[in-house]
Amino acid sequence: MPAEPRNLHPLPFSHWGLGLQRPLLIAGPCSAESEAQVMAAAHRLAAQGKSRVFRAGLWKPRTRPGHFEGAGTAALPWLQRVKAETGLLTMTEVATAEHVQAALDAGIDMLWIGARTTPNPFSVQEIADALRGVDIPVLVKNPINPDLQLWIGALERLEHAGLKRLAAIHRGFSWFERTPYRNSPMWEFPIRLKAAFPELEIVCDPSHIAGDRNKLGAVAQQALDLGLSGLMLEVHPDPANACSDAEQQVTPEAYGELIDSLIFRQAHPTAPMRDQLEELRDLIDQLDEEIAQKLGTRMDIAERIGDHKRLHQVAILQPERWERIMHRQLRLAGHLGLSEAFVKEFMDAIHRESIRRQTAAQGDAKETEGSQALRVNGAGG
Ligand code: PEP
Ligand code: MN
Repeated sequence: MPAEPRNLHPLPFSHWGLGLQRPLLIAGPCSAESEAQVMAAAHRLAAQGKSRVFRAGLWKPRTRPGHFEGAGTAALPWLQRVKAETGLLTMTEVATAEHVQAALDAGIDMLWIGARTTPNPFSVQEIADALRGVDIPVLVKNPINPDLQLWIGALERLEHAGLKRLAAIHRGFSWFERTPYRNSPMWEFPIRLKAAFPELEIVCDPSHIAGDRNKLGAVAQQALDLGLSGLMLEVHPDPANACSDAEQQVTPEAYGELIDSLIFRQAHPTAPMRDQLEELRDLIDQLDEEIAQKLGTRMDIAERIGDHKRLHQVAILQPERWERIMHRQLRLAGHLGLSEAFVKEFMDAIHRESIRRQTAAQGDAKETEGSQALRVNGAGG
């Protein structure tokens, strides 16, 4: 994968002139539903004292029509009230020039571009043009599809329009494979973005990654461990009855507990060059650990499959299964810019170890002989 050109120069939170710093904590409802709901969320969040920015979606990008599409401009005065009564900064999603104008006229403090807007260069350009000459912070969510260039391109369009207070939001990706999450985190994307632009602040949105309030903590902690710059979490006074994203929202009090349960990494020392190198090395260490853990889990499962095969007297040899695995991995490799030779070699090594473990689990006395035969013929795993 070629290095990304270094053509973004975003300012860190500490230079945004809003008294913000890492970790930036953004919280608020998925959608502004009513004045009472917005004010309850804001006051209860302010009482927790664990967020600086209040988020609320006014124009909701719903996948299919016929669902709640947000309160629109009617909700702008509610956000003004939030700011006046709690002192929290306000933030909303914009997808068109009209949204931008309405948000600016109402004095909203910060904007974000949603995951369905980022992949559309026409929409992003329309927003950038509407913001030309305006000095407002904008956070760009990753595109819904895993494409780093689209994410960078959206940030570039905004920078070309003169915006300097730019940051990214990692909210996971739609993926063709089933994952335990609503949107696959694919951590390598924020890591690659950070590696290309070390000064770019990247906030994680565990709510849209997890899609389930019970999984927020694990995702949020992972983001912090990877050194991301903050969190955006959906908080609703009555999550079960939310008009959108009910399963992933938490009450302000549960949000407070969640934040308290997280381990925040130490702020980095200041020497910039060393700092960046250390940060990148930390990321590599994290990834290596993750890879080792995943390999361990994979081998355990392979062993269980071995037990299962023995129990049901199924042959270990499953060449079509291995072919399917390899085919899928090679397709994935192409998508991620990994060389075919590398992925083949890597998968073969995993396969060999899988077979060794399965054979051992079978208690096969002819372990070596068997595994050599399997190596040639292929087995599932
Ligand atoms: C949201 O933040 O409520 C939202 C619509 O998010 P996304 O664009 O990430 O789906
Ligand atoms: Mn949402």
